[in-house]
Amino acid sequence: MQLAAIVVSLVISVIGFGLLGRTAVYIYQFVKLGQSTAPGARTNEPLERTRNLFREFLGHTRLARKGKRWIGAMHWVVMVGFGLLFFTLVTAYGQLFSADFAIPLIGRWWPFEFVTEVISFVMILAIAGLIGVRLRNRPAGAGSKEKGKRSRFFGSTMWQAYFVEGVILGIGVCIMLLRGLEGALGGHLSYSAHYPVSYPLVHAFDGMSTSSLENWIYAVAALKIVISMAWAITIGLNSTMSVAWHRFLAFPNIWFKKKADGGTALGALSPMASGGVPIDFEDPAEDAKFGVGAVEDFTWKGLLDFSTCTECGRCQDQCPAWNTDKPLSPKLLVLALRDHSAAKAPYLFAGGGKDLEGTEKLAEEKWLSLPDLVRAEAERPLVGSVDTEDLAGRGVIDPDVLWSCTTCGACVEQCPVDIEHVDHIVDMRRYQVMIESSFPSEAGTMLKNLEKAQNPWGMQPKKRTEWIQELDFEVPVFGETLEDISEVEYLYWVGCAGSLEDRAKKTTKAFAELLHIAGVKFAVLGGMESCTGDPARRLGNEFLFQMLGQGNVEMLNEVFGEDTPREKRKIVATCPHCFNSLANEYPQLGGEYDVIHHTQLLDTLVSEGKLTPVTPIDQNITYHDPCYLGRHNKVYTPPREIIAKVPGLKNTEMHRCKEKGFCCGAGGARMWMEERLGKRINVERVDEALSTNPDVISTACPYCLVMLGDSITARKQAGEVPESMEVVDVAQLLLTSVKPSATAEAAEPAGV
Ligand code: SF4
Ligand code: SF4
Repeated sequence: MQLAAIVVSLVISVIGFGLLGRTAVYIYQFVKLGQSTAPGARTNEPLERTRNLFREFLGHTRLARKGKRWIGAMHWVVMVGFGLLFFTLVTAYGQLFSADFAIPLIGRWWPFEFVTEVISFVMILAIAGLIGVRLRNRPAGAGSKEKGKRSRFFGSTMWQAYFVEGVILGIGVCIMLLRGLEGALGGHLSYSAHYPVSYPLVHAFDGMSTSSLENWIYAVAALKIVISMAWAITIGLNSTMSVAWHRFLAFPNIWFKKKADGGTALGALSPMASGGVPIDFEDPAEDAKFGVGAVEDFTWKGLLDFSTCTECGRCQDQCPAWNTDKPLSPKLLVLALRDHSAAKAPYLFAGGGKDLEGTEKLAEEKWLSLPDLVRAEAERPLVGSVDTEDLAGRGVIDPDVLWSCTTCGACVEQCPVDIEHVDHIVDMRRYQVMIESSFPSEAGTMLKNLEKAQNPWGMQPKKRTEWIQELDFEVPVFGETLEDISEVEYLYWVGCAGSLEDRAKKTTKAFAELLHIAGVKFAVLGGMESCTGDPARRLGNEFLFQMLGQGNVEMLNEVFGEDTPREKRKIVATCPHCFNSLANEYPQLGGEYDVIHHTQLLDTLVSEGKLTPVTPIDQNITYHDPCYLGRHNKVYTPPREIIAKVPGLKNTEMHRCKEKGFCCGAGGARMWMEERLGKRINVERVDEALSTNPDVISTACPYCLVMLGDSITARKQAGEVPESMEVVDVAQLLLTSVKPSATAEAAEPAGV
């Protein structure tokens, strides 16, 4: 028995460790196939990065979220067990040669034995729990809830996950059996801290002969090694088995994340770069790559992202596109890119890319074989219809997938290993728009309007100040009624919607009136304002974003004065998309401003007693988090605090709120595209809102106001909601309470 156990264990270990090591090196080389990142972009502030890695890893901060805390806790135990129980593998190798082997110095030390047993036992319970969660949530099958596409595991490679979980369970059981056998062999029959959990097993094995106990130890130690090595061999043969590889890859993926401070990859999009060098749009290099047109155009961090996906489906679970039956699932998108990049890798290792002939020649020189399948994979368009039998002509990502994204960031927010979906999606859009001129035709009208009139509706710049005429107090317009911006405290960035869209104009007027009541000095830019470029950038037209953004930055720097410090360049914005561009993206263009959202300013003014909500509004409301205010900029509390301070107003949260808020459907330039597939996202969101039984729906974004308002209007026409149902900005609610005489105006239905 002993000899067989030794031979089997050692042979399988040589194969297992060999394959594991070989594939680890392969993955490293594969990731290096990606483009460079800007110098220092992924390695700045190494101490902060390391601190964050430990915070995320030890605290499981992304997994242990509200509603999924137990799952996070169970995963934490398994993760810790994976590391700590490595010593039990070492012990098992020793036990093959001597049944009473223990690691020198610590092997018989009670704290070591105590911790080993407790962790093993809890790990068994935890992995059993996780298997239960997977079984309960599996997409289909006898006894499951048949969730189908609503299961977060839909599309995940289930056998791989069950295999990994089975391995952990098997190892845990072997450890406990070995502990029981060891205890019986050593005659430890009274309870002690050395055998705190396996004590009943020690007693169960008592009475067996010494040789039987030794043979069982050889057998179980060998079994433990075989199970461990079966895992090593399986993942060694599957470099794309990321459900297992994430145990190693998650560490670098988190360390190299976009934001050194540990923040999610939301807010600003990454500047467009080619080979790690930002593109100079006025004089781009001849060989500059505009966006991502082939999988090797992603940076090495992109390829690392794809290789790290755990297939957990948390992103898919939250995605508004997937939840309304669009073909986009952020998980399936990442998996498609992972599998394609892995399948194309031999071509790329042969010096490939788009030059197939050249690659084949190089491959011959390097003695690399490029079978037909790899060749066909290399020819696949990155973005193209998936509806074809011919592999070489089949797109990796379908255009309907690419254009369904609202860039809401729910996927990025949820991902436990910090994959940066939104940047990858926009990078692919950039290539489609700027090189292929391929994008939904309706968006073309918006782009033309931006080019011609600097606003998405194509309206005349002079119309930007028409809302001012409807107020009974003066609003200074810089360049017309105000020459020196230092005379006012805030520059109010009204935005295109706030200036030109009728429903959003109500927010603009309410906010201006509140500032007036509070005695805050402010001015607007009127016709000098242009679109910040947010929709152009999210659509992928980086060139147009640069044009609009640089124009705005030059204008703003002139308005504030080149030498004015950042803290004195105060801007307040009512549109979260403008807010995001001004605060997070304009620094990329040389524009540094102190930007706040109007809900933040209003909350401060109420706290300071400059605005006092007095008139009760006896209504139930539900507050909808705008994605670009909430997830992208972490402003969740101020709007809620304002609502809480209005007497009589009662906010009931929707089940998807705050970090898990559900998009209105307008982000990512989707506001200007037809929504032909699945259920409309704004309809889904209003369904959720109505389930809280509100009198009013409130939000803090002109896009959300329009999208939710459209859905409410349709319901009013269908007689499904009362005429009094409205969608209003938080500022409108506050004004109603602060200024009773304004009630009638502020309460005008926003959705009509
Ligand atoms: S950003 Fe939003 S819409 Fe786009 S893939 Fe992620 S969750 Fe889905
Ligand atoms: S949340 Fe992240 S790890 Fe999980 S499936 Fe989505 S991309 Fe993969």
